[in-house]
Amino acid sequence: MEVPATEELPEVVEPKTEPVAADPAPVEPVPEPDVEATPEETAAATEDPTATSTVDIPEPEDPVPVPVPTGQLIEFPPGENLITIPGTVAPGDRQAYVFEAVADIQYTFTLGAPAGVWLDAGLGEDVAGLPGERPKRAALVLPANMTWLLEVVSTAEEPADFEITATVRSLDHGPAPGPVVYLTFDDGPHPVHTVEVLDLLRRHGARATFFVVGTMVERFPHVLHRIVLEGHTVANHTWNHENLAKLSGEAIDRTLERTQEILGANATACIRPPYGALDELARQRAEEHGLDVIMWTASASDWTDVTADVIAERIVAGAVDGGIILMHDGGGDRTRTVQGLDMALQEMWGQGIQFEPICTELSPTPQIPAVGS
Ligand SMILES: [Zn+2]
Repeated sequence: MEVPATEELPEVVEPKTEPVAADPAPVEPVPEPDVEATPEETAAATEDPTATSTVDIPEPEDPVPVPVPTGQLIEFPPGENLITIPGTVAPGDRQAYVFEAVADIQYTFTLGAPAGVWLDAGLGEDVAGLPGERPKRAALVLPANMTWLLEVVSTAEEPADFEITATVRSLDHGPAPGPVVYLTFDDGPHPVHTVEVLDLLRRHGARATFFVVGTMVERFPHVLHRIVLEGHTVANHTWNHENLAKLSGEAIDRTLERTQEILGANATACIRPPYGALDELARQRAEEHGLDVIMWTASASDWTDVTADVIAERIVAGAVDGGIILMHDGGGDRTRTVQGLDMALQEMWGQGIQFEPICTELSPTPQIPAVGS
């Protein structure tokens, strides 16, 4: 952590947890009393609001007096990193929630609600407006310990049920952030195996990207919604698992567009070609659609005849910083993938690995004529 000697301080003064002690260089070999900071303890410490408040004053000299928002309190029970809050909002009404944020923790709020229902998250200018037509996410890293207001606003004509899903995640502190690993799952959403994968990811606090097939999304939209609700991202794996290297330009356009369309507001700017097959034409068409081609750096090879142990080994071996691991949650019986993933995540527990979605940029609105394709 640098000492901001000459640099101008940002407006919001961030509480520094470590007082950056003057280097105790001369007195080297004093063995520290072995403070056993297990990963859980470290995480708990960073999430403890009182830990910082004793060191620093979190909210003193803010020039603009901020009114304390009121509403139903959103709280994470101890040890939980995901909560869901169901509710109903009347036409023209708003449901207010307050949330006590701890600095430098990443919160992701997702609203699942019908059209006309929005989630306003933040204060003043920091409003993230989320159209409620489909599950939408707002990831917030809040600059200071503070109370935030979240409001579900309805312009719908009838009372609307909604669900807020909130996840919490410590951002890395200190000099050595853990490796970031990208878990990816192809060929879903599948009503059984995707759900099993989601349960696992949730239990392990991991987030991932699902490369989905359009026809599967059409059949199992609720599974897709759960993927997005729980903070994962979805991306294009073509409409019907076509081999893009064998298609005409027109056919490539059609399969890409159709899939982006069914993903709607959740579509990200990524594609993974089925079979990893991509010729120059397909590459060019993907680019014209604003889609980044995402391959992988390690494969669980879970479509071959391998045991769950082997799948687990391959996942663990591939979990290097920046590694993109290919797995499948659809396209066959994925029981062994689910078992192998569970074993791998258990083995990697406590290593400080951050499992993140690789495709996070939402797709630009397609400028394709809606009719006639
Ligand atoms: Zn595939």
